[in-house]
Amino acid sequence: MSEILDVIVVGAGSAGLAAIREVSKRTDRFLLVNDGPYGTTCARVGCMPSKVLIEAANAFHRREMLDTLGIRGANGLSVDLPAVLQRVRALRDDFVAGTLKLTDRLGERSIAGRARLLGPDRIDVDGREFRARSIVLATGSRPVVPRPWQALGERLLTTDTLFEQRTLPARIAVVGLGAIGVEIAQALSRLGIEVSAFDAAERLAGLADPAVEAELRDALGSEFRIRTGVAVELAPSADGVEISAGDERIVVDAVLAAVGRRPNVDRLGLETLGVKLDERGMPPVDPSTMRIGDLPVFLAGDANGDRALLHEAADEGHIAGLNAAAPQPICFERRTPMGIVFCDPNVATVGLRFEQLDDSRTIIGEADFHRQSRARMTGRDRGIARVYADRESGRLLGAAMCVPDAEHMAHLLVLAVGQSLTVGDMLRMPVYHPVLEEGLRGAFRDLARQLPDAGDSDLAACGGFQAEALD
Ligand SMILES: Cc1cc2nc3c(=O)[nH]c(=O)nc-3n(C[C@H](O)[C@H](O)[C@H](O)COP(=O)(O)OP(=O)(O)OC[C@H]3O[C@@H](n4cnc5c(N)ncnc54)[C@H](O)[C@@H]3O)c2cc1C
Repeated sequence: MSEILDVIVVGAGSAGLAAIREVSKRTDRFLLVNDGPYGTTCARVGCMPSKVLIEAANAFHRREMLDTLGIRGANGLSVDLPAVLQRVRALRDDFVAGTLKLTDRLGERSIAGRARLLGPDRIDVDGREFRARSIVLATGSRPVVPRPWQALGERLLTTDTLFEQRTLPARIAVVGLGAIGVEIAQALSRLGIEVSAFDAAERLAGLADPAVEAELRDALGSEFRIRTGVAVELAPSADGVEISAGDERIVVDAVLAAVGRRPNVDRLGLETLGVKLDERGMPPVDPSTMRIGDLPVFLAGDANGDRALLHEAADEGHIAGLNAAAPQPICFERRTPMGIVFCDPNVATVGLRFEQLDDSRTIIGEADFHRQSRARMTGRDRGIARVYADRESGRLLGAAMCVPDAEHMAHLLVLAVGQSLTVGDMLRMPVYHPVLEEGLRGAFRDLARQLPDAGDSDLAACGGFQAEALD
């Protein structure tokens, strides 16, 4: 062991790289340690390849309405699964290459190996010891695979292996219908695979708003089989995998396990830090500094099990890196919460979630997209949006929706919630015609009707002119 470094960052994922960006602006005396493949979960096996797959699936699915548009011959279209997966990997490789440029530039300051804490200022990397004034832990997460399922061998897929397949079999079960399970189940089904989907929990995509959840269930249920609220057991069978769910038994060729992701902290040596770990083995982390207790150790990204989303991981890495290199940790405000599920219709949540609302102080405005004119033109006329507002002030609190292009409408709403805008502010915003946002305006009008001082007009009165007129 030689010099004492300023900062060691463990994990070259999105959080770790964001940390390195901040650290390297402030000191040269740092080290990045990464175990396993480089290229980040997001680019390699997460956000990016999953969205490429979804794009192909949605393109093929559009054939079902081509006849309605007066376009004939759609029956002749077919999916070339090996080609679809090849494109997923080709684009994936390109996205990964972008992230590798960052680590390649670091030269000797980046090493490969499994890091384990020896204390708040020391780590072991495959038998070599390194010391630093601060340590950033950004070790990410991995798919949960219940031990008995491992006996299924190659018939068991996770998102770590799915995109590596040369082709896919005819029958796939997706077990776990959180955001990832929902996205992939629909994509596989739209690519022509017979999908059966299961979840032990009742709600799809973790949606707490019952009306929006029901809408999503309706939409997905019209495309593939969904069974929720039952524990699932898997066993190898002569020609595949037998799934037992309640009184149901089916046989499939492969299973995608999407039952959640586990933070990679179990073999990280957190017990050497001298802080109390909770029942999941997690230390206390301040989300505004990413600091563990009052130690010079920071836990960022999926590894802290808090907000397993790319933009949050990047923010947390940024905060952790900045604080690890700073004389005193700085406290940062976190962004307004936002989550998007890239199924069709998209699901999005913004701001306060349904279960966090105080019923006595909240009003809910609803917009129905089944008759929305732009949605009808595109053949995507389904979905609802629910917007939550404060009963007294009309200030927007949050929203949940399952509507076409919610990925874009969520950004409009997150701006509004983050800026504490009111229902009145939203109604004064111009909305072009004909666009999907006109549908969202229905939810604001619904809210306005429930507010005490609802006026007759969406428009603001000319304050100056009226004042003069009254003089
Ligand atoms: C299929 C899928 C789809 C997703 N889609 C979206 C999406 O659409 N939008 C979105 O916002 N988010 C999405 N996510 C989530 C997003 O990808 C993650 O939140 C994000 O990538 C986490 O980044 P991270 O830096 O925390 O972890 P990672 O990128 O996993 O980086 C952690 C790194 O640490 C390394 N490591 C682990 N242990 C050690 C150790 N002991 N020593 C050294 N190195 C170690 C790992 O090998 C890895 O390289 C998706 C995830 C998946 C799986």
